[in-house]
Amino acid sequence: MQGLMQDVPLTLRMVLERVAELYPTKHVATKTADGVRRRSYAEVVERVTRLASALRDMGVGPGDRVATFAWNSDRHLELYLAVPCMGAVVHTLNPRLHHEQISWIVNHAEDKVVFADTSLAPAWQAVSGTDTVNTVVAMDDLDGAGGIDGAVDYEELLAGAAPEFSWPTLRENDAAAMCYTSGTTGNPKGVVYSHRSSVLHAMASLFADFIGLSERDVCLPIVPQFHANAWGTPYAALLTGANLAMPGRFMADPASIAALTAEERVTVSAAVPTVWFGVLQAIRAGTVDPASLSTLERILCGGSAVPEPLMRGFDELGIRIVHAWGMTETSPLGSVANVKSTVAEDQVLRTRLTQGIPAPSLRVRLETSEGEIAPWDGETMGELQINGPWIADAYYDPDAPDGRGGQDRFVTDAAGTRWLKTGDVAVIDAEGYIKLVDRTKDLVKSGGEWISTVDLENLLIAHDKVVEAAVIAVPHPQWDERPLACVVKADDAVTKEELLGYVGEHVAKWQVPDDVVFVEEIPKTSVGKFDKKVLRQRFGDYQLAT
Ligand code: ADP
Repeated sequence: MQGLMQDVPLTLRMVLERVAELYPTKHVATKTADGVRRRSYAEVVERVTRLASALRDMGVGPGDRVATFAWNSDRHLELYLAVPCMGAVVHTLNPRLHHEQISWIVNHAEDKVVFADTSLAPAWQAVSGTDTVNTVVAMDDLDGAGGIDGAVDYEELLAGAAPEFSWPTLRENDAAAMCYTSGTTGNPKGVVYSHRSSVLHAMASLFADFIGLSERDVCLPIVPQFHANAWGTPYAALLTGANLAMPGRFMADPASIAALTAEERVTVSAAVPTVWFGVLQAIRAGTVDPASLSTLERILCGGSAVPEPLMRGFDELGIRIVHAWGMTETSPLGSVANVKSTVAEDQVLRTRLTQGIPAPSLRVRLETSEGEIAPWDGETMGELQINGPWIADAYYDPDAPDGRGGQDRFVTDAAGTRWLKTGDVAVIDAEGYIKLVDRTKDLVKSGGEWISTVDLENLLIAHDKVVEAAVIAVPHPQWDERPLACVVKADDAVTKEELLGYVGEHVAKWQVPDDVVFVEEIPKTSVGKFDKKVLRQRFGDYQLAT
């Protein structure tokens, strides 16, 4: 028997229509050099309509890729709506990547038009050999002070475009957006989001037991729109009518974040732990007044593990860090560490520090190195695998059959369930909380045993004479690999012996790093995570005492 319900395709047109009908007076605010620019959602919808007309007049058709090279802003938000709703695909480029990698990505995705912020003109102009791009549109975020050679101006484009547009009927599995992984191994991989996956991800972000975004929130996504869709917050905020505050090119500067939070009365924000460490340090150094964060209720934090001192630091300010895990391939929200009512009181902090339980409609499992499915006992480690309606099913590969590449990263089980192999190693406890142990490629394999670099880093970061620490594997003649700690000192007087002795009080002797090197800073990737690839290049042949 068939269900007798309306078969309404889940497309981003729903978001556009809803915000136009129900929330026209709510707004998006963008930080500029001259202060904050606010646009009502009615104005945004009107501009989105003009933008769609302009794109059509430029020859952009169904399925064409339209790239963005931009910070978080109202204009970037307009592109998030106009491009997919007119049937094309919005492809967010990461301007922090090396220019050769960017041109590789542009060519691979066959981007036709690029919308670039003028503050990023030098980065864009370094990108060469982009054969498929026929138009560049400059979005002036330098308030008249900048331009891009040969580019069309965004505001002129909108002013000259027709104010009405006949929106096409879309299928829910049509591509809506595209984002390449940052490619910590090999070439970046293209993830293609569908309308359906984007709508379901946005809807789920409104569940109280997931992200719980509501109309009363003011949401400040500091995580870039070019990094996994700013964790989906723009679509979720629009769907529920929450105001948005966009940091523009002032992305990770604690004083600007605090000022925007105060001015816009931000209630929820999202960024990687490094950003929040910066804010906490600025508060402690007296350069940011904690009162400017008084409206901030919660922070969505992930991308790398939230260290305990960071969570405690914000707890003391009355701001709740909500720990989340995800990947570009998972849209990106996969799991969130909300505390179930069944968790014992003395386990609450430990639980909040896990990567959480999977979102409603997602399923996870662990596969051990022997190929077994691991029990949820909080002890048995395995590679985390994930299934669900907003999880990638393949990577974009124009040379592969049906454009579906990267098949070695996916597996279909005997019941026909499709799993993405995340490359993360985890344990899952009986309540379903996922605890990431490491990335498969970062684990230290010592004498046949695995050592988690994440556990060692968390311990070191908690030491009051340490600012930051990253642990990498270095070759060892007897044990294959041993851990080496790279540490940024908070106190010049700290010694290797003191740190190793301290670690030895908390972990088994064979897990204690063999040595410590003191470094000026831990290199970061384009999205603010520890770049262990750089550390491995630098210390890969480090001679450990044997
Ligand atoms: P890339 O894989 O290129 O670094 P992503 O931004 O997609 O790009 O990163 C996803 C990875 O980031 C995950 O596979 C995981 O290793 C790490 N990660 C994400 N969230 C967390 C978290 N809360 N705790 C620990 N690691 C995390």
